Amino acid sequence: MTAAPQTVLVANRGEIALRIIRACRYLGLRVVCAHSEADRDAPYLKAADETICIGPAAAAKSYLNIPALLAAARTLGADMIHPGYGFLSESAEFAEAVAAAGLTFIGPSADVMRMMGDKVSAKRAMVAHGVPCVPGPDATLPEDPAVIAAIAEDIGYPVIMKAAGGGGGRGMRVVTNPSELIEAAMLTRQEAGRFFGQSDIYMEKYLARPRHVEIQILADSHGNAIWLGDRDCSMQRRHQKVVEEAPAPGIDRGLIAEIGARCAASCREIGYVGAGTFEFLYEDGQFFFIEMNTRVQVEHPVTEMVTGLDIVAMQIDVARGAALAVTQDQVRTTGHAIECRINAEDPSSFVSSAGTITGLRLPGGPGVRVDTHAVAGMTVSPFYDSMIAKVITFGQTRDEALARARSALAEMQVEGVLTNIPLHRQIMAEPEFCAGGVSIHHMESWLKTREGDNAA
Ligand code: ADP
Repeated sequence: MTAAPQTVLVANRGEIALRIIRACRYLGLRVVCAHSEADRDAPYLKAADETICIGPAAAAKSYLNIPALLAAARTLGADMIHPGYGFLSESAEFAEAVAAAGLTFIGPSADVMRMMGDKVSAKRAMVAHGVPCVPGPDATLPEDPAVIAAIAEDIGYPVIMKAAGGGGGRGMRVVTNPSELIEAAMLTRQEAGRFFGQSDIYMEKYLARPRHVEIQILADSHGNAIWLGDRDCSMQRRHQKVVEEAPAPGIDRGLIAEIGARCAASCREIGYVGAGTFEFLYEDGQFFFIEMNTRVQVEHPVTEMVTGLDIVAMQIDVARGAALAVTQDQVRTTGHAIECRINAEDPSSFVSSAGTITGLRLPGGPGVRVDTHAVAGMTVSPFYDSMIAKVITFGQTRDEALARARSALAEMQVEGVLTNIPLHRQIMAEPEFCAGGVSIHHMESWLKTREGDNAA
């Protein structure tokens, strides 16, 4: 028998790199971290046993550079690779290359990733497993304009065109009437090719005022899969999440349990191993699957807060071949958790604000968790995502979690770069968000009224 893998290479940066390092420490594993030239002096690297520079600042030459990452794993004696989120986390090619190098990829197999990473084949798989999807064909759009028009008529306007390989809120276009349809298909196809390297697109019903509700799952290689409750990520700007919470307020728990059980069952049927998220739109009491994320997500801490489980440690454990240590019956959720994504950006214009953090005061106290790699003196690089921290608060009730978010955000101070902390302070006091259950359009319409207030 070969020995269980003992060294994890973190193929990522920033707060998630630190989060993975902590999970490895907790599990008693050696952990090494790859970094770009821009991150050479990043303080979070000190938490790793060893580090290695894999290339220049540009992600294409470092965090997306598969040969450099494999060489780093070899040099530092790693036998597992954790991809985090973003970068190569959903690259089936990377998963395949890691396996071919005789290493363990912390995530599902390349084949399962290919199936679930492509939104059209994921939708097809979900339809086959009885998971309800957004109305629209589970097939890519053909070129023929007449056929495209017929599909749109069949679905009923408005429709949304999406890149099959899309992500990050890009490559999507809403079409409200037939005269815009063909041009929209052409533009979305072009964008899909440019951003995601494949021009396949598909079409589905554009839901008018849905909520974004998702289910966290964990599955092992012994045929076990569990779901760890739900999250509401409806507070979005440009299809990107700004605030997340668990559980989704005001939705029938019986219905969630039914959907959760179906997600877990699909994982068992497709041979999914690892952590994953089934994303749904929820409207008028119904769930509609939109996509699966085959990796750990930014918002995983809210689920950790209400379940008391360590999703990243469990993800690493199942990748090492362990059976899930928790059964579905043992998953208990209590209370409520809210996460605010703190970005280094102008809170009004949303323009990123790179520079050196000259002063930092982090909040604490009961029910407050801050996941961050930021320290005073650290440089926020213009090369990468602007998220510098996640402020997560827990309460026995949603109101208590909100009250703790307000006091945590009041306490938090960042000097030297601009942040969206003032925006989050406003959101945590905004009446409709505080009431719970807003739609995915709420944040943008609220931002417009806020602009109106400022102009007045
Ligand atoms: P990405 O992979 O880029 O994150 P998703 O498919 O997850 O894209 O969609 C991101 C967001 O776009 C959703 O959370 C929702 O706000 C919006 N969206 C996606 N599909 C639809 C739809 N059919 N109707 C209405 N809004 C949608």
